[in-house]
Amino acid sequence: MSDNQIVKTLIIGSGPAGYTAAIYAARANLKPVMYTGLEPGGQLMQTTDVENYPGYPTGILGPEMMEDFKKQAERFGTDVRFGIVTKVDFSNTVKKVWLDGGEEIHAYTIIIATGASAKWLGLESEKKLNGNGVSACAVCDGFFFRNQEVALVGGGDTACEEALYLSKLCTMVHMFVRKDHFRASKIMQDRVLNTKNIKVYWHTETKEIIGDIVVNAVRIKNIITGEEQEIPINGFFVAIGHKPNTDIFKGVLDMDEQGYLITKTGNTKTNIAGVFAAGDVQDKNYRQAVTAAGTGCMAALDAERYLTEHDIH
Ligand code: NDP
Repeated sequence: MSDNQIVKTLIIGSGPAGYTAAIYAARANLKPVMYTGLEPGGQLMQTTDVENYPGYPTGILGPEMMEDFKKQAERFGTDVRFGIVTKVDFSNTVKKVWLDGGEEIHAYTIIIATGASAKWLGLESEKKLNGNGVSACAVCDGFFFRNQEVALVGGGDTACEEALYLSKLCTMVHMFVRKDHFRASKIMQDRVLNTKNIKVYWHTETKEIIGDIVVNAVRIKNIITGEEQEIPINGFFVAIGHKPNTDIFKGVLDMDEQGYLITKTGNTKTNIAGVFAAGDVQDKNYRQAVTAAGTGCMAALDAERYLTEHDIH
């Protein structure tokens, strides 16, 4: 493979982190190539209104926003390709990536922006009402339910954090926990249990989210007694964890016990020189479009510096 066939910056993933990295890399003349992954546009493609992304004073639909990101990246020459990366070899200066069609791509720098996927309960009604009252992000969508009643499922730190966030906006948060205890840290548990408008239901599973066009109620079941009840609500939040999309990097890149890529503090470098990570794939804490975009920018600047330092033009 000749030098001019080697991509300077290959971006894997097409959410806010990937596209922001592409905009910066393209404007720095790195001629980035992006592989979109299975869900072009990422998690925002499943969102309705986005009201917290700066620059959109009246809000924007998630899919429209991602189309804008794409147009902006392409305007400066990003080569956006649909494709799924199935295998990588980062053992040499020239990194190798294989696609689902068998194609092999070589690149000097790689920006991983494959994101994380929210875990869902797997109910038919959850799928049907997704974006119409069902959400996996309280910070994104809680505002739409201010002064209303909502429900939230989960018992970890995320669930507790989101329940507390919602309790400041909503009149009542019904919180369903499948065990008789939280998994969350003690301090978060205490905060939840000491908040008047959060009602915790132990041993509880969600049977159905009720509503034709929007959410009207939820039917839950107590696993011990078998008793079922219907609670009127307007919003249903799922907070049972996320799965970072890092399976193809196992054994190659350093990750934490949940599979999130580990980057160096203050930059986007992974344990392999020339490989950078941005967005939710390396962030289980903030998980916002704007923070993902911020780290996407950082990754492009880090890649550009790496190329300069290695005299790759
Ligand atoms: P966790 O995996 O820690 O918790 C998931 C929760 O969802 C558990 O209570 C689990 O129940 C429950 N759950 C899983 N599947 C289902 C299901 N099908 N039905 C009902 N309930 C289900 O995920 P988190 O997102 O909460 O946290 C991920 C990591 O991020 C953790 O390490 C956490 O500490 C960290 N974090 C830290 C924060 C902070 O420090 N501020 C904020 C947010 C996250 P069960 O316990 O029964 O398995």
